[in-house]
Amino acid sequence: MAFLASLAADSINRDRARYNPIMLDPQRTIAELKELRELTGNADGAQRVAFTPTWAKARQWLREKLGAIPGVEVKNDPAGNLWATLKGQSDRALLIGGHIDSVPNGGWLDGCLNTLAGVEVLRRIAAEGTPAVTIRVVDWCDEEGARFGRSLFGSSAASGALVPDEVRDLTDRDGVKLIDAAREHGIELHLALEARHELQNAAAYLELHIEQGPVLLSKELPMGAVLGTFGVERHAITFTGQAAHSGSTPMAHRRDALGGVSKLHLAIREIAVRHGGVCTVGKVETQPGIVTAIVGQADMTLDQRHLDAAVLAKMYAEARDASERIAKEEKIDVAWRKIWQIQPFPFHPELIELADASIKEVCGVSHRLPSGPLHDAAEVCRAGVPTVMLFVQSLHGISHNKIEDTKEEHLEMSVRALDRLARKTIAWIEQKR
Ligand SMILES: [Zn+2]
Repeated sequence: MAFLASLAADSINRDRARYNPIMLDPQRTIAELKELRELTGNADGAQRVAFTPTWAKARQWLREKLGAIPGVEVKNDPAGNLWATLKGQSDRALLIGGHIDSVPNGGWLDGCLNTLAGVEVLRRIAAEGTPAVTIRVVDWCDEEGARFGRSLFGSSAASGALVPDEVRDLTDRDGVKLIDAAREHGIELHLALEARHELQNAAAYLELHIEQGPVLLSKELPMGAVLGTFGVERHAITFTGQAAHSGSTPMAHRRDALGGVSKLHLAIREIAVRHGGVCTVGKVETQPGIVTAIVGQADMTLDQRHLDAAVLAKMYAEARDASERIAKEEKIDVAWRKIWQIQPFPFHPELIELADASIKEVCGVSHRLPSGPLHDAAEVCRAGVPTVMLFVQSLHGISHNKIEDTKEEHLEMSVRALDRLARKTIAWIEQKR
């Protein structure tokens, strides 16, 4: 009985929320996430890979939702980012971002929770009349880079970090070039950097995201305020020894290249723990790679990440020193080659405080954590716009997979926290004037 009564009360509350335009309705966000899943997913998960017909369908659906909000103008910029703008008393703008594209067989929340929570907050603000500052929800173009291997396409065009010449010839599995796939969706690559104009009046940028990792889950916390995105040092390391017969070469006479990889792998784990960062060896290859030969050449990759640029540089230097010491011990040679590197992007300290306060108001408790994965927020931060992110707990601590999930009560909290953060940030922008 009590159960039925509470069900009835729930549905009354929900109806009240639906018909009271002033009230935020996080349940609607959850319903829309499910609607999107129906529309663009299958038994294997979400299929909204950027520059595909399914992605275009998702965006058309999003356009209709945004276009239905009174006073909101919707347009695409030259990099294919979708902008919904509610003009305020001031041109200075609060930006709320997300990405509706997914990896193939992706989850139902990565990227689209951000976007749809932004839509709900925009509805609440629009219903209250002309806001003090301009409010813009942006759906970034191709955050995942799933098809061409270049992530953060649209946001890096807006920040100016994109180099069109470096991406025009990237090809997908079928040999289609990025430049042609983008053109099919109305994007002329040589004009993409004009998206920079969109950030001209940006006074703050907010992004809600699922954590995609196990930290909040292990602490049994619904949400956290994000301190920034990790910087990354990514290198290929080659140890060279001497390939020789596995039976005829006594242990003391070996120059075993795999010995270098083995010892360095253990060393980088200690370096990561010592500095509070993360270090990963993701790939190892050996030559000649047969059961009866000592390894003559061993190649490994090393990915190191930290929120503090100075500490990241130290982690890198220590890994290099360790590799040289190990090479000496093993009587082998070592060579390093840089694969990729990006600096850390620490978020705005005052916005982190506001994010923390918003989470506490909604969840009772908050936590501060860095982001291991990169997000569009990093590009906006690079452009000099004060930025912060909110993380909501991921069940299983897993993402980019159809089992990606978050408790519905936590999803609701996340929409409420984003709304509160938007309110506080508008006041913050006004007071900065
Ligand atoms: Zn994402």
